[in-house]
Amino acid sequence: MPCPPGLYVDVALPLPPPRTFTYRVPDALRAQARPGARVLVPFGSRERIGWIDRVSDPATIGDPEKVKPILGVLDGAPSVTPAVLRLCRWIAGYYLSPLGQVIRTALPAGLTDSSTDYLQLTGDPAPGRDLGQQELKLVEWLRGRDGPQAVARLRREMGDRVWWPTIRRLEEIGLVRVMTEGPRVEPPVRTRRVLRVRELPSLLERDRIFARAARQREAFETVEAMGGAADVPHLVNELGFTYTILNALVKKEVADIAEEEVSRDPYAGVEAGAAPQHRPTPAQTSVIRRLVEATRTEKPGTFLLRGVTGSGKTLVYIELLREVVERQGKTAIVLVPEIALTPQTVGRFKAVFGDRVAVLHSALSDGERYDEWRSLRSGEKRIVVGARSAIFAPLPDLGAIVVDEEHESSYKQGEAPRYHAREVAVVRATIEGAVCLLGSATPSLESWANAQAGKYTLLELPERVGGQPMPPIRIVDLRAERKRQRDSSGPMQDRGPVILSDLLVTAIGQRIARGEQTILLLNRRGYANFVQCRECGMVWQCPNCNVSLTYHRRRARLTCHYCLHEEPSPGHCAACGSKDLSFKGVGTEQVERTVAETFPSARIARMDVDTTSGKWSHHEILGRVERREVDILMGTQMIAKGLDFPNVTLVGVINADVGINLPDFRATERTFQLMTQVAGRAGRGPKGGEVFIQTALPTHYAVAAATEHDFVTFAEKELETRREPRYPPFTRLVNVVVSGLEEEATQEAATAAGEWVAGLLESRRVRDVTLTGPAPSPIDRIRGRWRWHFLLRSDHADTLGKVSRFFWERWHPRSPKAADIRVIIDRDPVQLL
Ligand code: ADP
Ligand code: ZN
Ligand code: ZN
Repeated sequence: MPCPPGLYVDVALPLPPPRTFTYRVPDALRAQARPGARVLVPFGSRERIGWIDRVSDPATIGDPEKVKPILGVLDGAPSVTPAVLRLCRWIAGYYLSPLGQVIRTALPAGLTDSSTDYLQLTGDPAPGRDLGQQELKLVEWLRGRDGPQAVARLRREMGDRVWWPTIRRLEEIGLVRVMTEGPRVEPPVRTRRVLRVRELPSLLERDRIFARAARQREAFETVEAMGGAADVPHLVNELGFTYTILNALVKKEVADIAEEEVSRDPYAGVEAGAAPQHRPTPAQTSVIRRLVEATRTEKPGTFLLRGVTGSGKTLVYIELLREVVERQGKTAIVLVPEIALTPQTVGRFKAVFGDRVAVLHSALSDGERYDEWRSLRSGEKRIVVGARSAIFAPLPDLGAIVVDEEHESSYKQGEAPRYHAREVAVVRATIEGAVCLLGSATPSLESWANAQAGKYTLLELPERVGGQPMPPIRIVDLRAERKRQRDSSGPMQDRGPVILSDLLVTAIGQRIARGEQTILLLNRRGYANFVQCRECGMVWQCPNCNVSLTYHRRRARLTCHYCLHEEPSPGHCAACGSKDLSFKGVGTEQVERTVAETFPSARIARMDVDTTSGKWSHHEILGRVERREVDILMGTQMIAKGLDFPNVTLVGVINADVGINLPDFRATERTFQLMTQVAGRAGRGPKGGEVFIQTALPTHYAVAAATEHDFVTFAEKELETRREPRYPPFTRLVNVVVSGLEEEATQEAATAAGEWVAGLLESRRVRDVTLTGPAPSPIDRIRGRWRWHFLLRSDHADTLGKVSRFFWERWHPRSPKAADIRVIIDRDPVQLL
């Protein structure tokens, strides 16, 4: 076939099909139609936004007559920079995602929908000018309105048909002006109604004030746990407290309600020079020197910085950025697991680099996010600090990428595209010739293996800054403790689980007496993990998921942590009618209660998903800890990350075994990381510190290694367990999850998919990919969907990628019942549950 005349391009659309689509570029748009440009194209009967991937290969164009034209190019400059576009292509290829969906993830929300285009009438049609019917309609519509009008509104009012050719014609003859705008920035100040509670230090006083008003007490304690203040609408609409209850608190003078300004971005006001500027220690200096040398070479490579907790990794990051940004005039990306949980780290970057830092956090409005994106794109801001998606920042001339706490699983996105920001960081740094620095006290075994193999350069900070010792860790054997407590209490005593061992109680008491602070970790929310009938053994289960429901005492509700299903807490067994119910498996709520009863005068704060629903509630709670307004901070893994409070001299792990037995190959690694990280919060100041780990598995190698602060031994032992059956880092993994509304159809579809893959491996003689399964997923029903999965393993990323891609592009469920079957392909999964 002769090469078709004109220019054709492949356009990536944010739609599920695993491909791009070919369009013709009208001559008038040729100059703007470059790769990365945002374009409007006809698709089916609608218009859609997409991005130009590349000029089409003439061989793929087919019948040029049938190829539709692009309707418009929407921005002056391409909206995706060439470097980010290359990165997106890599992600689309590696993680098996449509390129359009990857690009949509990479851009701020406002740039991915058409609500950003506005039209304005700029003149009157000259008499006798013959306009088409649709052109006349548009002119009439615009004439009836004031000022610029959103194209989205035009569609709403005049019908969702193909408008852009009309708009372009009117633009050409000078009747209409087209403007592209970012989404509106929210007004700077908004207010909200906030209920603030006052401190009620003693339990006795509480008992007196609330006597028989249990709901009032619940409301009070809920707000208390949320950091002392909460939105009134949130309390009423989401937590179910009535205005009568809230007003009663005000009447009793234990709370007040006021209009408060919505807390603005707490980083906006951080001034340069707010934090002390340290001189690097010799150990830091040598690490910094290695990194700086690397930045001056053509291919700086990837470095793994293993620095124990408190070794001063942040200062290394800062000095690296000083070199790259200040001396070399380049730009840098810093990834942190979650902004709200790491206010101190973020604050240190702001303190040193001030206005040159953009902090991308989840509480930004679309408009604010878009503004930050633009200021990064223009080079006005030189550094971005943010969670996962900040890896897509449109920074020109990138010099360094830092991934702090590189082992964190939150770097992996749970929905498509299922990318891992740490791996993407390594790829982006390589593409752009930047240095990549991965930092952690407990590196992921993947990165550790890469360092051992010489793919990454290992840098180490084996000691804490200033020769501060690592805190001693003591193991409390929960089995022995339970026996002891049982024997010493009378037979009539309640035989509940051990929450606080005597040792831990004594240690906490000493801290309170000395005005020092304690952190208590329990990685399980709610009050009780599950509810069981003592008579018939029934366990309350979620109707949508195959998991037990968690009992939340304050709200008197059973909740599913997977699908958020809620029901009132039961008074009797639904199966046998018995009222003898037991609430098993201690959660944070119960720990809080026990701690409050044991230390009635202590000031306690709890931080977990249930107490931090407000945008900045983490910030508020951590601020109170920093100002020493809290004696005991307790919570889930949220409190284990990066916090640096010198007055914390005691850390207690309530139960180290939570999670260690989950049917997931990373369960042990996670447990070790969590224990090490939380232990690392203790003894950061001159007063030193100590750690108690309560466990029923005192001889488990993860517990033993954490006790010795011995990452290397842990890694060796854990790697042994990954050899057979083979798991990462010894092999590459793809988890294929097939889900559906009906159990049988799901099983059939998964079996068919597995057989298809087996047939493919057989017929193509692929020997280096193995198939395991299909089998039901460990949690075989979530949100009403049955789940089956199978694993593909290979030592060769390329082959594994090809096989997975072949499956993704070619296999479709066939049975008539298959309409609701969904297939998820998760490459390098962080969990298999
Ligand atoms: P890590 O992230 O490795 O756990 P941090 O970066 O939080 O450790 O540093 C621990 C503490 O040591 C912080 O309070 C930090 O301000 C302090 N620090 C870091 N480097 C130095 C230094 N060279 N001199 C004095 N204090 C330092
Ligand atoms: Zn029962
Ligand atoms: Zn559920």
